[in-house]
Amino acid sequence: MVTTHNLGFPRIGAKRELKFALEAYWKGQSSLPALKQVGKELRQGNWSLQSRLDLVPVGDFAFYDQVLDMSFTLGNLPARVQGFHGDQLDNYFRVARGRSAESAEEHAHCCGGVAAGEMTKWFDTNYHYIVPEFTAETQFKLDASRLLEQLAEAKAQNVKAKPVIVGPVTYLAIGKAKDDSNRLALLPQLLQVYTELLETLATQGVEWVQIDEPLLVTELDADWQHAFNLAYHQLKSSRVKLLVATYFGQLADNQYLAANLPVAGLHVDAINGRHEVLPLIGMLPAHKVLSIGVINGRNIWKTDLNATLDWLEPIAERLGDRLWIAPSCSLLHVPVDLDSEQKLAGKLDSEIKSWLAYAKQKLEELRILAVALNQGRAAVKDALASNHTAVETRRHSQRVHNPAVKAALEKLTPALGQRQNGYTQRAVKQAALLKLPKYPTTTIGSFPQTAEIRHARSQFKAGELDQAGYQVAMKAEIERSVREQEKLELDVLVHGEAERNDMVEYFGEQLNGYAFSQFGWVQSYGSRCVKPPILFGDISRPKAMTVDWIKYAQSLTSKPMKGMLTGPVTILNWSFVRDDQPRSVSCYQLALAIRQEVLDLEKAGINVIQIDEAALREGLPLRKSQWNEYLRWAVESFRITANGVADETQIHTHMCYSEFNDIISAIADMDADVITIETSRSDMELLDAFDNFNYPNEIGPGVYDIHSPNIPTQEHIVQLMQKAAERIPAERLWVNPDCGLKTRQWAEVLPALGNMVAAAKVLRANA
Ligand code: GLN
Ligand code: ZN
Repeated sequence: MVTTHNLGFPRIGAKRELKFALEAYWKGQSSLPALKQVGKELRQGNWSLQSRLDLVPVGDFAFYDQVLDMSFTLGNLPARVQGFHGDQLDNYFRVARGRSAESAEEHAHCCGGVAAGEMTKWFDTNYHYIVPEFTAETQFKLDASRLLEQLAEAKAQNVKAKPVIVGPVTYLAIGKAKDDSNRLALLPQLLQVYTELLETLATQGVEWVQIDEPLLVTELDADWQHAFNLAYHQLKSSRVKLLVATYFGQLADNQYLAANLPVAGLHVDAINGRHEVLPLIGMLPAHKVLSIGVINGRNIWKTDLNATLDWLEPIAERLGDRLWIAPSCSLLHVPVDLDSEQKLAGKLDSEIKSWLAYAKQKLEELRILAVALNQGRAAVKDALASNHTAVETRRHSQRVHNPAVKAALEKLTPALGQRQNGYTQRAVKQAALLKLPKYPTTTIGSFPQTAEIRHARSQFKAGELDQAGYQVAMKAEIERSVREQEKLELDVLVHGEAERNDMVEYFGEQLNGYAFSQFGWVQSYGSRCVKPPILFGDISRPKAMTVDWIKYAQSLTSKPMKGMLTGPVTILNWSFVRDDQPRSVSCYQLALAIRQEVLDLEKAGINVIQIDEAALREGLPLRKSQWNEYLRWAVESFRITANGVADETQIHTHMCYSEFNDIISAIADMDADVITIETSRSDMELLDAFDNFNYPNEIGPGVYDIHSPNIPTQEHIVQLMQKAAERIPAERLWVNPDCGLKTRQWAEVLPALGNMVAAAKVLRANA
């Protein structure tokens, strides 16, 4: 008999109940017991939804982040939050979110303010965890209370519980040694706490524990490989059975290591590494359980159950009771319940809905697979037949396949991504046309999304404001931001993005091949969720998407107005994408569509066009050995999008992160005339990457952090730019903020940009 289990369930709630409960509590509008009650109900609901599984995850619920939960379980709290007098959950939020000492909250004065823990991406997902902090002095101390409480609840509900914890090696690897000490030196001490934890769980009658080690799908040097052996040799004496779970990729070189860890079971991701499964079975000690992740935990498509069975049946034959099946990874990364999508309109109609599966539906798929394996396909004949129909309609749908788009893709040549002349020649022509001063000033695109803007948009969406009324409201905002920029004496203006709800959704909504859900929310961090658009078909652009707005904005001023677009790689990386073609193909399709927009903007007389690639870095594969392949098609997609313009047209791109060293040559290959980046927090040091590489084109290093309400002083900006000029010749420098200003207030933006323009004038005078 095959065993079914799940690695983790989304905790945010089908209607984002946890988000609203957290935010109400943080605003002081509800109590701690009320918040805890919501958590309890969510866990109960999630377990009920999973009750047909043979083993149900427990401990995957977290009020903010499962890694931070693990830090509390291990007693690894940063020194700055120790000694807090209040409730432990409040302390947990202090680490997650930070607290100012002036806040009116209880204990703000006695225990003082604290800085938030650093947050970073969980492997290659868009989920962000709170980075564990270590020093050479770190002491671990078990606090199993949270897990035990959830275990008791699960027992009371008759749940076949399988506690889920982050494994010790992954836990160390994803943390940071604040004093640059070697965090592997902490492993022996850490293992004692894990040993205690497992013993505590054994005492509770737990049979299996899932111990997550996704680190095994990354490249490991000898020290980390050794850490795995050391860790699991120590934990093997535990009375519970351990299922080491790997996911998000292939084991590759770590296959032998993973197969031979002295544990009772191994989970692998057969969505990313199907071809590894058969060799792995050959390697696996004969007593070991193999859990195969056969349902994609990273996207929203229905599984082809019949095809999966064709592949799984012989494996089940071979493994017998040793076979478990599960989703490829925790379902944290998909929305909760497709049944929530009731308002089916143009965005997500019933046909597209019939192709989708969210977390709840994925578990039903798993159940069908198990029944088919255990009792034969006939026992689930109808379910398999309807799955077949859905999968086949999608496969052959004319809404998915557009011959014109495929034909255009066939004709792609590198020439399409090639500017007419090199940067040096272009720069001369652009200077003659744009007549910009030295140290030209600009902004990154968005201006404050005011209450009026949001009100107009929600009225428009609700049908209370007609198209014409909405246009008038947005044009008024555009005019306001143009007037303000003129008063500020900025050199290259933007229209302010008033009409955009989101830099990806705005384009997705206008492209064929995209659908939008109403409840497709996925947790990004804490209470923050994103609703990635669904790229389901070949991409085409029925008509211009931004030209009218930009033309209008340009008509208000004689200064150059930047066209403002989101690049293909960013649109791709922030969407749910197709599983029936490589990511690169979807990316090239997006590139061709946005290229048309670029050319239309140019035709409309727009001389400066910015194409944001905020998420280019996010798409980097987990393994460095695969970076070149990704960067090749990502950069090529950008080039196709941007480089069809005349020499005189100035192409900008923007990236808001601060690590370029390892991708600088790819960035240079994009060949944008100007790149604006986030640098203020690194004190211009990140320009070293550009300097060392002799980056040839223009750069706008951000001079102030837009995440903070603080107003940068003119002197500080001058200083930063002088540091920049030590690295990049002044003729190739721009002056701009780190990123867009949509989350700020006008009252902050005006003085900040005022100081920025004044700083540029000082720099020019001194030049
Ligand atoms: N143009 C966008 C804006 O200004 C860029 C946002 C981003 O880089 N994340 O809002
Ligand atoms: Zn940005």
